[in-house]
Amino acid sequence: MIEIKHLTKTYGDAEDAPRALDDVSLEIADGDIMGIIGMSGAGKSTLVRCINLLERPTSGEIIVDGQDVTGLSGTSLRSYRRRVAMIFQSFGLLSQKTVLSNVCFPFLAANGKVTPENRERALELLDMVGLREKASSYPSQLSGGQQQRVAIARALACDPEYILCDEATSALDPASTNTILKLLRDINRKTGVTVIVITHSMGVVEKICHNVAVLEHGRVVEQGSVADVFANP
Ligand code: ADP
Ligand code: ADP
Repeated sequence: MIEIKHLTKTYGDAEDAPRALDDVSLEIADGDIMGIIGMSGAGKSTLVRCINLLERPTSGEIIVDGQDVTGLSGTSLRSYRRRVAMIFQSFGLLSQKTVLSNVCFPFLAANGKVTPENRERALELLDMVGLREKASSYPSQLSGGQQQRVAIARALACDPEYILCDEATSALDPASTNTILKLLRDINRKTGVTVIVITHSMGVVEKICHNVAVLEHGRVVEQGSVADVFANP
């Protein structure tokens, strides 16, 4: 599980610098689909960047399976990042590589090569997202929803424990959004991977999340089961 404890982040050193995150405490249980919802400026991106350690928190802890990760560097940072896969609004696929090569990319990055077993695994993952027949296509030949499915397959190539989805459906039309959300839910059921959904959209949270935290001005103002939190007027 991920326990975020009293996380605070200010950009810059000024005494009175505004807090992008202000004493955020959250628990994300293993196997959960957890939503983190907030309006623009609430601190969602900052929280994502702190969880994957693109930013270091100003204070507080991020404890993953009992270990505070905020000080990790070098190889332990790289292996931590493989445990927490990312999916972005803009998909982030390599445009000059085929779909299959994109899904194989994490193997290349981790080991410097792609073995036949890796390629087999990548094709299985493409099967899982329903795009095996697109293995030889390039990202530009796919729809946005299909590109995001490739990104999901790529995220799963590292066998992550967590998938961090940063506005993953914000660039998609409603039909593709539903496909992606259903896919994430199926993968969560099938593999037990914990899914963290960062979004400004209540609809997204209502569709797939079990639990939710509401972020406002860098603070968690509510958290609990989706039914409880959204039942409060
Ligand atoms: P969200 O993703 O919810 O829109 P952000 O995490 O991007 O929120 O922003 C939270 C607050 O932190 C905002 O007030 C924003 O202006 C500020 N902020 C974000 N990134 C930076 C940065 N690199 N430097 C200074 N302030 C920043
Ligand atoms: P690159 O982008 O590095 O030129 P490709 O993505 O075209 O490489 O191919 C990577 C490897 O996967 C090659 O060995 C290729 O033969 C194999 N490959 C490509 N498409 C398929 C497919 N649809 N099914 C099985 N193997 C494939």
